[in-house]
Amino acid sequence: MSRLKNLIKTCPENILASDWMNWHWQLRHRLHQPDDFKPYLDLTAEELGAFKNTQKLFKIQTTPYYASLVNRKDPKDPIRKILVPHTKELSSGAQSMSDPLGERRHSPCRRVVHRYPDRVLFLITDTCSVYCRYCLRKYFTGNDEAFISPKEYQEALNYINQTTSIKEVILSGGDPMTLGDARLIQILTDIRNIDHVEIIRIATRMPVVCPMRFTPELLNKLRLFHPLFIMTHFNHPQEISFESAQTLELLVDHGFPVFNQMVLLRGINNDALVVQELSRKLLALRVKPYYMFQCDPSEGTDHFRTSITESLQIQKELWGKMSGLAMPNLSLDIPGGGGKIGLVPDFCTHKSKEKWSFKGWDGIEGDYINP
Ligand SMILES: *Cc1c(COP(=O)(O)O)cnc(C)c1O
Ligand code: SF4
Repeated sequence: MSRLKNLIKTCPENILASDWMNWHWQLRHRLHQPDDFKPYLDLTAEELGAFKNTQKLFKIQTTPYYASLVNRKDPKDPIRKILVPHTKELSSGAQSMSDPLGERRHSPCRRVVHRYPDRVLFLITDTCSVYCRYCLRKYFTGNDEAFISPKEYQEALNYINQTTSIKEVILSGGDPMTLGDARLIQILTDIRNIDHVEIIRIATRMPVVCPMRFTPELLNKLRLFHPLFIMTHFNHPQEISFESAQTLELLVDHGFPVFNQMVLLRGINNDALVVQELSRKLLALRVKPYYMFQCDPSEGTDHFRTSITESLQIQKELWGKMSGLAMPNLSLDIPGGGGKIGLVPDFCTHKSKEKWSFKGWDGIEGDYINP
């Protein structure tokens, strides 16, 4: 795998590689308390304060693997900002919604979100291995109800079974890949038994935060459920380690199309060069950069959010300079439940019934005359 040759392996010297590469070990050794973080980073006084005060808003948790990607000397490290709480989370902000996408409004039963005619989200667990401080689903994620009750599970399956317009089921949460192999295979089997469901997607951050979750044994079982798409969530090139790159290669080699959904986050990746580097690296690993989301106004996210103008500027800077294959689509979820809309930089300089005029990415102008 020559594409991996310049990437760094993460296992610290004092930990056995066989432990580090075992996903159960990673989940058993998740970090929650300030002291747990000591081997990986030095918390500032302000961060320590945030540990005490933000727990009620949103749980603090990371895998040792993901914490090991932090450069401990850099207080502005992007991964640190994703996983360490900040007191800024406590200010109420310009728009602070517990359920910014109005998902509860589109829930025909407790674990299903049915917003679009042909596809549903099936929230099979509320647990993640890492809690991202900007999470859009704080009303649900991390409540530790963990496993869906048998009754809720059956209700969700019945709903999907009876609603023949559903062609696609997106397993989400929480992170579905925190479930054990047997449970996951059971859920996939039950969904595959529904004739009108054509595509299954698994939305998971595990390739980023616990890439060792995808064992060769599991991949061989998962391939029986094709067409099965993996939707993952890298935000920064620093998240591409030897281990995560290897997992992406394995996923694609086993026939899973892999798509990436990033979120634009102030101080983390709101820079065209960072987005470009991430997108190019992912594309070289055969992962398609799919969405670049405007950060949703969930509680405590004001300090992460870019303005729409800034986000459009970032996309405009990338236009033309980067392969279309590597370009993610800037997208915004209308607060309150209106669904996703595409935000596209405006290249039009004049518009009339007869003709539209444009100025391209490099400044060259031209008209299109309508027939
Ligand atoms: C984002 C989303 C989907 C998937 O949308 P795509 O544009 O097809 O990726 C489906 N249902 C809900 C509720 C969503 O928020
Ligand atoms: S992995 Fe997704 S659902 Fe889980 S905390 Fe992060 S953003 Fe929220």
